[in-house]
Amino acid sequence: MSNTPRRPGFATEQVHADRHFGVEHGGLRKPIHTSVQYGFDKVEDLIGVFQGTFKGGYNYARQGTPTTAALESRITRMEGGVGTVCFATGMAAISAIFFTLLKAGDHIVSSRYVFGNTNSILGTLENFAVEVSKVDTCSVSEVAAALRPNTRMVFVETVANPGTQIPDLEAIGALCRERGLVYVVDNTVTSPWLFQPRVVGASMIVNSLTKSIAGQGSALGGAVTDTGLYDWTTYPNIAANYRSGDAKTWGLAQIRKKGLRDMGGALSSEHAHAIASGAETLPLRVDRASQTALALAQHLQAHPAVAAVHYAMLPSHPQHARASKLFKAGTWLMAFELRDTSQLNTVLNRLQLAVKATGLGDTRTLVIPVAPTIFWEAGPEVRARMRIADGLIRVSVGLEDLADLIADFDQALG
Ligand SMILES: *Cc1c(COP(=O)(O)O)cnc(C)c1O
Repeated sequence: MSNTPRRPGFATEQVHADRHFGVEHGGLRKPIHTSVQYGFDKVEDLIGVFQGTFKGGYNYARQGTPTTAALESRITRMEGGVGTVCFATGMAAISAIFFTLLKAGDHIVSSRYVFGNTNSILGTLENFAVEVSKVDTCSVSEVAAALRPNTRMVFVETVANPGTQIPDLEAIGALCRERGLVYVVDNTVTSPWLFQPRVVGASMIVNSLTKSIAGQGSALGGAVTDTGLYDWTTYPNIAANYRSGDAKTWGLAQIRKKGLRDMGGALSSEHAHAIASGAETLPLRVDRASQTALALAQHLQAHPAVAAVHYAMLPSHPQHARASKLFKAGTWLMAFELRDTSQLNTVLNRLQLAVKATGLGDTRTLVIPVAPTIFWEAGPEVRARMRIADGLIRVSVGLEDLADLIADFDQALG
C-alpha cells in the first residue's frame, strides 16, 4: 500500500476544480471578476505584486484576474503540467510562444500540416529573421534531417486539420530531449482528455480553448502549459530578469511578461468563465463526439460517392496504430473526399443538419469545403503539397444523434 493520497480522476477533478480556490461567499463556482485594477492597503503588497514576492496578487487585468487564474489552474491539472498562461485566443497563445522564445537567427522545425493560421504566423516569423523548416513530421527522420546548429524548437499538432496526419509524437519527443530542443505540441484537436502530450516529452502544450474545452462555440481562448520537462537553464533566450527562482517556471514567466503583458492578448474574465463551465463536461462531450465520428467515418467509407475518408481510428489510416496507442479515442475531426468533385457544392447545399460553417469542436456538426475556403489563400501548389484534394470536406462532428447525422449525409450524397 502506498501512502500517497489517491488522486481523483480527470472528470472528478474538473467538476470540482473551483473548490481548490475557496470560492468567495461559499459560491460553488468561481465568480467573474471584472475589475481591471487591484488596490492594496499597504504599499508593500503593491510592490510585492510587481516584484513577484506577493503570490496570488493581481495588479492589472491584462496580466490576469482571479477568474483567469482559476482557469489556468484547471488547464494545468488537465495537462499534468507545472503552470499555464491563458490568452484571448489560441493564436495569441501560439504567437506568444514564437515571439517570446525565438530570436532573429534562430531556427524552428514545424510540421508541414499545421493549422492554416499557424502556418501564416510561421511566415511572419520569417519576416523577423527566424528560419523556418516545414517537414512531414509523421516521420521522425524528416525532423532529424532538418535540424541545424541554430534550431531551438520543434512544433507539431497532435492531429492535423484537415488531413488528420499524426506526427511521430514519441520519437520526436526523444529527439528533442537528446538535442535540448523545446518541443511544442498543439493539443487542440485531441484535448487533454484524449491525450496528454507530457507523456511523449512535450516541453510546452498549446490548447485553443475555443474548441473542445469551451465546447459550445461561444467563447474564444487559448492556453500555454509548461509540462516541467524542459530544462530552461540550458535555453539561451531566457532574459536575465526571468532567470530566478525555480527554473521550471522561467519559460512561462517570460511568456506571461512578454507575451501577455507586452503583447496584450489577454483573456477576458467573462470568456474564462464560459470556458471553465464548458471544461466541466469535456470528457462527456469528447467521448460522445468521438464515438459518433468513428461510426460516421465507417459509414462514409462504405458509401459509393465517397473516394476516401480521413479518420485516425479507421484501420485504413496511415497512422492508425500510432493513434490507437496514444489517444483514448479518435476525436471529432474527420475529412472525406467526394468521388465527383463537381458535386461538391450540390452535396453541401443538400445537408440540412450539418451546418456549412468554419470552426471546430462545437456542439453542432460543422462542415466546410476545404480547398475553396480555409486553404484558398494557400494556393494550388501548397494544397497539392499538403494533399488537400479539391473535393475534400472537413467535418467537425457535434453532439447530434448518430442516426440523424447518417440520414443527413446519406440524403445529401444521393
Ligand atoms: C483553432 C485552432 C487554433 C487557433 O485557435 P483560436 O482560438 O481560433 O485562435 C490553433 N491550433 C489549432 C490546431 C486549432 O484548431
